[in-house]
Amino acid sequence: MIKQERIVNAFLQYVQISSPTTKEGAFARFIKAELEKFGCDVSVDQAGEKLGCDTGNVIARLKGNTAGEPILFSCHMDTVSPGENIKPIIKDGVIYSDGTTILGGDDKAGIAAVIEALTVIKENDLPHGDIEITFTVFEEGGLHGAKNLDFSSLKSKHAFVLDSGGDPGQIIIQGPAQDKLDFKVIGRPAHAGVAPEEGISAIMVAAEAISNMTLLRIDFETTANIGRVEGGTVTNIVAPEAIVKAEARSLNNDKLKAQSEHMVDCFNKAAEKFGAKVESNVVRMYSAFNVAEDHDIVKNVEKACEIVGVRPFTASSGGGSDTNILNANGITAVNLGIGERKPHTLEEHLHIVDLVNAAKIVMEIINQYK
Ligand SMILES: [Zn+2]
Repeated sequence: MIKQERIVNAFLQYVQISSPTTKEGAFARFIKAELEKFGCDVSVDQAGEKLGCDTGNVIARLKGNTAGEPILFSCHMDTVSPGENIKPIIKDGVIYSDGTTILGGDDKAGIAAVIEALTVIKENDLPHGDIEITFTVFEEGGLHGAKNLDFSSLKSKHAFVLDSGGDPGQIIIQGPAQDKLDFKVIGRPAHAGVAPEEGISAIMVAAEAISNMTLLRIDFETTANIGRVEGGTVTNIVAPEAIVKAEARSLNNDKLKAQSEHMVDCFNKAAEKFGAKVESNVVRMYSAFNVAEDHDIVKNVEKACEIVGVRPFTASSGGGSDTNILNANGITAVNLGIGERKPHTLEEHLHIVDLVNAAKIVMEIINQYK
């Protein structure tokens, strides 16, 4: 069945093939060859050309030997920096980097779990329905690979993303939508000592707008933040321009829309009051998803976890993942905990027991759909 030594060795090998965001090509070619060894049909879509990556998303299908429902497993291939020349170290059952880079368990632990499960299926000739796999590019910094994924080639209605830092057993069933908001206030410069009344301070307009805003924790599922303010030049000039960068998130798409409109409204009112101009730009980065607790997909993961012997529990996420994009494209998807600890830091690490359990959960999910 699942072999600890084999999955650990595979994981160590994967993290040593660098795949920083937009430079996933070498790893994509390696993993494509691995998938082909199992008899998967593997293709690479056009996302790379659109995004400036050196490969597209890797899409694979292992044809089923039963009439079971097709299911999709999805992970991302790219890693944050510093993520080149990773030298993994094992200490007391835990895999670390050497402290100069991230580890890359986000998300190569997920990839290792999927590959180990396929290895077991093939070597034991186990029954399974069609298994589809997407290994995406450019997830970090905007979910761009998934946004440009060739969905026309996928048949699955249920998908399992393996990309959460929780314990194996964690099932993320809700994720927030996020808006990015950019404001540019255009005032009028004037000498601050000689004729300040002739100026319109863009900084004062921005201050008025922000002080009238409801921000930070809006309610249990909605947040908003001003992340950056810049503007002005020198103290004797009334500031002609100010730039404000903000974000808002909510588990509820309508609440997010209302919050973003509120923030834009505060800028418009402040600009009107001072006679300034404001340019607002609101971009929906991704939409929220919400899978019901009693949905089949959740029940099936819960059963799989119980068989493996880990406690299943549902949770919601504060951030975006490829799960948001899959759900937005009509595939019901949940994000599973694979035990990536402290991702995006030099202290990132992975307990071997979590890696093994993640692979066992993938195996048992396949079993639920056979
Ligand atoms: Zn990730």
